[in-house]
Amino acid sequence: MRLQKHGGSCGNSCCLRVENLSVHIGGEAILENVNLHLHCGEMAAIIGPNGAGKSTFLKAILGQREYEGVIAFSEPGQRSKKPRIGYVPQSPAFDPSDPVSVSDLFACCMAKRPAFFGLSRAMKQTVLECLERVHGESLIDKRVGTLSGGELQRVLLALALEPLPNILILDEPLSGVDVEGMTVLMDMLDEIRKTYDLSILMTTHDFSMLPRYADKVFLIDRGLKAKGDPQTVLNSPEFYQSFHMKGGRV
Ligand code: ADP
Ligand code: MG
Repeated sequence: MRLQKHGGSCGNSCCLRVENLSVHIGGEAILENVNLHLHCGEMAAIIGPNGAGKSTFLKAILGQREYEGVIAFSEPGQRSKKPRIGYVPQSPAFDPSDPVSVSDLFACCMAKRPAFFGLSRAMKQTVLECLERVHGESLIDKRVGTLSGGELQRVLLALALEPLPNILILDEPLSGVDVEGMTVLMDMLDEIRKTYDLSILMTTHDFSMLPRYADKVFLIDRGLKAKGDPQTVLNSPEFYQSFHMKGGRV
């Protein structure tokens, strides 16, 4: 069953328009002439082999990479309002013996004070409300290093949703998550975009999730090689070329 899609209009700053985007690092062209448009409420997946420039593309949108071209958050001709962007980075590794708990992590990120001061009662309530958005209230006292891949992604997602963003960007949220956890996470992302009316842009290597969840797929391999609905991109010659004719660089 295909989930109901929500994308369409661009009345808010949850729209993303990229025109002729190029990124060079140390004189090397990492991305060249990328053009794409993500509408409000859409879920889009970026796919491509390792080293294709997917994370670099996300970093350019986040303002962490210099680029040439246009990154705007409105339709052409409309004034581009700066959106709030929520970002879930590629899973950081936490040491299981590290005593940092989920509430400590929130304290550092939200209260901007060292975790050893502990959480005020009001702050704890806020953290619980954040975790509620990802059905993760029971994780509050767990050590971050002992969380499963799926639990860690939910905690990072809860952090990215406070304050609520217009555009949510996730870099490989499904890596390190088991098959059951992937469906839980994707259902959650789908619920979040409906509930909070935001757009989602994520990179993934898990193509099986795309037909069910993504409105659009962008195939990036040092440039935009294909774009369209999931079936169109997954059946395109460009997809075959990127993934099967380059020595299996998936
Ligand atoms: P992907 O996320 O698709 O695996 P990346 O965007 O991380 O790919 O990297 C694309 C290319 O850019 C790679 O060849 C990588 O080595 C290079 N690259 C990325 N960041 C840097 C950097 N800070 N310095 C030098 N090269 C980089
Ligand atoms: Mg990457």
